Amino acid sequence: MTEAAYLPHPPSRRRLGPNGPAIGPVAWGMWRFAGATLDEATRLVEAALDAGVTLFDTADIYGVDGPGWGSAEALLGEVFAASPGLRDRLVLATKGGIVMGVPYDSSPAYLASAIDASLQRLGVERVDLWQVHRPDVLAHPQELARTLGNAVRSGKVGAVGVSNFTPGQIEALVHFLDVPLASSQPEFSALHLDPLEDGQFDQAMRHGLAVLAWSPLGGGRIARPETQREIALAAALDTVAEAHGVSRAVAAMSWIAAHPAHPIPIGGSQNPARIAELADVAKVRWTRTQWYAVLTAARGAPLP
Ligand code: NAP
Repeated sequence: MTEAAYLPHPPSRRRLGPNGPAIGPVAWGMWRFAGATLDEATRLVEAALDAGVTLFDTADIYGVDGPGWGSAEALLGEVFAASPGLRDRLVLATKGGIVMGVPYDSSPAYLASAIDASLQRLGVERVDLWQVHRPDVLAHPQELARTLGNAVRSGKVGAVGVSNFTPGQIEALVHFLDVPLASSQPEFSALHLDPLEDGQFDQAMRHGLAVLAWSPLGGGRIARPETQREIALAAALDTVAEAHGVSRAVAAMSWIAAHPAHPIPIGGSQNPARIAELADVAKVRWTRTQWYAVLTAARGAPLP
């Protein structure tokens, strides 16, 4: 196969926002992190660093269905405290704006307090990326833009991003922001194709946003397919995985990264051996035919 037959590699490094830190083609997420011991947690963070992961994604709410609100951030804070210098080796991203029982609050006072609480739990003076976890439709985008701009100017936040926003909500926010929007974090995998089809990826390419793809294995369903559609998708991924000598999970994440927006899959495994595989994601090459074969299997219907 000639080089020209393959889709381009995702960039090995890109900036998070115009002047932000360099980030690589894969990220690692801590939704399922709370509840580990300090030793286990440290091993997981080191496994991700060893695999070349730069961006580490957490949120204030992670752990709420286990040890409690804030427990994933607090555990990462313990890891930082026990391993001096570790925090500076990673690009640290967190989120806020979900409030139990409300469910969303992007008012200026609440978001300012949420950022302070995250910094305290993490034991850091600043996070590199702070994201609005879910849109609060009762917050005017002009007011949210002012809040996010103030967070950056306070020095507590290196850059700002959003998660689970529609393209229209992102457009309205970008219109009012006086600091760059660095990222969006939609759910995206071969089992959840919305951002490919609703204009979000096109918008990200137009505005230069880093796209962080959450649940890149469909929360594990791609590794353990059950339905007919999932089994057909697994077979299409396995063809490429076998040709490259990688796991299906690696093939699934590389399929995401091969889109021209070069979405950054946030691997969610809490198993050190599976985290180590993140190093292989950017090595897999896709032909157009293979990429569209996975899309067709994922849709469960031929493309028009
Ligand atoms: P995922 O990578 O799609 O799924 C991870 C799950 O799949 C884990 O339970 C993992 O188990 C399992 N898995 C992975 N490889 C496997 C294999 N080969 N065989 C069997 N099981 C396998 O990602 P996710 O955890 O759902 O989400 C990833 C990250 O996205 C989160 O940590 C968070 O940072 C972010 N996220 C954001 C939002 C949002 O609203 N912004 C929502 C959800 C998630 P093991 O741990 O045993 O490997």
